[in-house]
Amino acid sequence: MTITQRVLVTDTIAESGLDILRGAESVELEYRPGLAGSSLLEAVREADALVTRSGTSVTKELLDAGAKLRVVARAGVGFDNVDVNECTRRGVLVINAPTANILSATEHTMAMLLSLCRNIAAADASVRSGEWQRSRFMGRELNGKTLGVIGFGRIGSRVAARAKAFDVKVVAYDPYIPPSVAERAGVDLVSLERLIEESDIITVHTPLTDETRGMIGTAEIAAMRDGVLLVNCARGGIYQEAALAAALDTGKVAGAAVDVFESEPPAADHPFFRAKNLLLTPHIGANTLEAQDRVAVQTCEMVLEALAGSVFVSAVNLPFEGRVDETTAAMIRLTEKLGKFATQILRGAPLKAGIELWGIDERNIRILSVAAMKGLIEPHLSEAVNFVNAETIVASRGIEWSATLHATPLDYTNLITVRARSDEHEVSVSGTLFSEKNQRIVGINDFRVEFRPVRNLIYMINRDVPGVVGKVGTILGDREINIAEYNLSRSQDRGVAMAIISIDGTVDTETLNFLRSFREVEEVRLITFE
Ligand code: NAD
Repeated sequence: MTITQRVLVTDTIAESGLDILRGAESVELEYRPGLAGSSLLEAVREADALVTRSGTSVTKELLDAGAKLRVVARAGVGFDNVDVNECTRRGVLVINAPTANILSATEHTMAMLLSLCRNIAAADASVRSGEWQRSRFMGRELNGKTLGVIGFGRIGSRVAARAKAFDVKVVAYDPYIPPSVAERAGVDLVSLERLIEESDIITVHTPLTDETRGMIGTAEIAAMRDGVLLVNCARGGIYQEAALAAALDTGKVAGAAVDVFESEPPAADHPFFRAKNLLLTPHIGANTLEAQDRVAVQTCEMVLEALAGSVFVSAVNLPFEGRVDETTAAMIRLTEKLGKFATQILRGAPLKAGIELWGIDERNIRILSVAAMKGLIEPHLSEAVNFVNAETIVASRGIEWSATLHATPLDYTNLITVRARSDEHEVSVSGTLFSEKNQRIVGINDFRVEFRPVRNLIYMINRDVPGVVGKVGTILGDREINIAEYNLSRSQDRGVAMAIISIDGTVDTETLNFLRSFREVEEVRLITFE
């Protein structure tokens, strides 16, 4: 029987998104835009997922009422109205749709750029006022100019591609991208100083951080070409607003186009309102019908994926970026299984645990660490453990955690080892990915093995004497338990052997106890990856 999950939508969102929820099997949509107060608290009680825009504040009180909630989705980019920390503590995934408006923001930047070059807004106002001043609105061509792009991310790189279609030379400054990214885009990656000196037009596409706040001020503008054009469709405050207004007045900056402000809306006495040659829009970079549609579609698709158990969604409170490539996704799943395996052969509760990595991209340390944590603690906890709250739970249970990246691979191109120690003993389980997505467990403690971590497994340690394999085969066969794979590994110096027996279906406790009753058998455990 499939369980119906309830999705409560409390803001208006595009029909295209709602249709996705309506069409989903075993999902019941409750579309109640504008819901507030006690009716909201009542409605959220039965909800598995909540979809909002900015109309609903997701507070502790709301989360208390919505005890079943597993997903909170913000159909948009920001999430100021969501208490993310409280959601994280409870293991509630907070989803947003940060990429839905990239093309809209890119195109707005191009619109601003072209309008600036051809004085479109001022010329329009002039014609409407009865003037006919053709010589006043002398434009500039984009063709042949140098465009400086500061911040070569999703939007910056797309602006560059579009500008190149106008035969513009693009230079970019972004200290956080490898040169190969710029090379592929046919763009020169340069220092900020060089970009400032060489550009006829400069556009910023960085986030607003301590580093970028006010990064273009009086000194930087002074070093620019006379008559430079500046665009900001990113975040208010990247250009120092007073410095920009002053440079427009002197003509050092011939024109600027600004969609975003330090404080929005800008105060009536803002220097921009007195500045010359300034084109202003009210933070509408993302406002298009298509972006709205995309936000709704992406959000609703991710809600369904998250309800179905996927963590590979764009969530703000996952300790890693939700959407990862296939190989990383396979590695995450493998690491979680290594954690699960380790905890199922560990006697006692883990006090100290960690992950060791060889031949793994440094950027994946945290993701894999969390995956190992989740695997390690999940089998023993009744509370819901997920990628959102695994780190918090590990810390709250006082498990000392470490993650170590080794520079040189050992025998495999990539290797992941999860170690765990209780007050009784220590275990380690190692795995690797073959051909990018084939998971293999290749080491358990000092035993070398090679098996796929699928199905249920019987883990058995026995004295290395003849006849054990036959006995086990007969016992399982008698009980109609089908053996899919029998992996044997021997530790010669200790005189013991380890068997990993993959079985179809599961095995009952009585059978496990029967296996345990043999003299030569030291330990038998059923390992599951469910
Ligand atoms: P992104 O994260 O894809 O790219 C940002 C780039 O800036 C990254 O490549 C990063 O390496 C670079 N960067 C960070 N610090 C830098 C620094 N000190 N100097 C130079 N480069 C630096 O982001 P995105 O999706 O391309 O968005 C870019 C900006 O546009 C953001 O500020 C975003 O909030 C804004 N935005 C505005 C609107 C709007 O309505 N006007 C809509 C969407 C996005």
